[in-house]
Amino acid sequence: SDHTALTPARLEARIDLDALRSNVRRLREIAAPAQVMAVVKADAYGHGMLPCARAALEAGAAWIGTAVPQEALALRAAGIEGPILTWLHSPGDDFAALVRADVDVSVSGQWALHAILEAVERTGRPARIQLKADTGLGRNGVQPHDWPLVVDEAVKAERDGLVKVTGVWSHFACADEPGHPSIQLQLTAFHEALAYAEAAGVRPEVRHMANSPATLSLPESHFDLVRTGVAMYGLSPAPELGLPADHGLRPVMSLVARLASVKRVPAGHGVSYGHTYRTSEETRLALVPAGYADGVPRAASGVGPVSIGGRRYTIAGRVAMDQFVVDLGPGGGADPDPRPGDEAVLFGPGDGGTPTAQDWADATDTIGYEIVTRIGPRVPRVYH
Ligand code: PLP
Repeated sequence: SDHTALTPARLEARIDLDALRSNVRRLREIAAPAQVMAVVKADAYGHGMLPCARAALEAGAAWIGTAVPQEALALRAAGIEGPILTWLHSPGDDFAALVRADVDVSVSGQWALHAILEAVERTGRPARIQLKADTGLGRNGVQPHDWPLVVDEAVKAERDGLVKVTGVWSHFACADEPGHPSIQLQLTAFHEALAYAEAAGVRPEVRHMANSPATLSLPESHFDLVRTGVAMYGLSPAPELGLPADHGLRPVMSLVARLASVKRVPAGHGVSYGHTYRTSEETRLALVPAGYADGVPRAASGVGPVSIGGRRYTIAGRVAMDQFVVDLGPGGGADPDPRPGDEAVLFGPGDGGTPTAQDWADATDTIGYEIVTRIGPRVPRVYH
């Protein structure tokens, strides 16, 4: 008999695609009349790129956004149609494959434009390009002093029928800190970059700048399109921007383990590597089969929250590669004893006081983005 098919997973990431679709519809309302780009880079922030891209398109996302070319090409290979933008390129990338696949390629510098023109020559097909201005992030994008050079060269290539400039765009540094002085400076710089491009003859289909925090807090940044990642996965971009529910959003991923064992130990028992935790009385220890190989941060040792049987606990001792321990206390009350196979919710939508990815982020001094994105390939994604 096939026991594996019947045995519940030791650890699984449950992906609520209804929540994702509902989040996309909500973001469309917030952004309207601007359209929504579903950002599905990094395996859709750990949620699974293909199912999330499909669900987002079903819910009316007009664009798909990826970071690296392999992501965009994988989407095309799986039959995803419609506009896809990819924005992080390195010399040596297969630009010809992107041109053949009709992927919009971001241009952050002259070298990229030249590489794309070479690919156009090789494939005999025009490329769709989007010019990215560095308006102050100081990361990717064309600096103001190079902007005229790149724009003029793109306009010439467009006149020669080699490219179509489909977009002009930029990215914020501090949109998650409403009121940060850099936000208005970047908006002004973007308007200047746009004005130059339009005067030079660029007629972009889409002008865009807003990520999730700007989408939620700064309507003047919406332009024609907003690029939402984290909000689409139902997380708030930052505590200052409120809870997901404040925006009508619901977390998409729940990380659920099944207890591998529950055992009684005496007072003074050391727990996990280094014995950084010691039991203070005779107690019950539950073994949760999830570790840093699965993406549970080792920094959650002694601080990460877990819900078992409707009660919230804190990880006892160190998170190991594959497992960690929870001290359930001595028991003996009215509540039934947790048993092997019972669910331990690491994070989810937060219903009934269960922890959220934001709680994990707060406990480990990081952001919700990292908590979900780092959930590793060993963890099955279960879609419902
Ligand atoms: N646009 C760009 C260029 C990005 O790199 C990202 C992700 O960091 C996003 C949009 C989406 O950001 P967020 O997840 O805050 O919506």
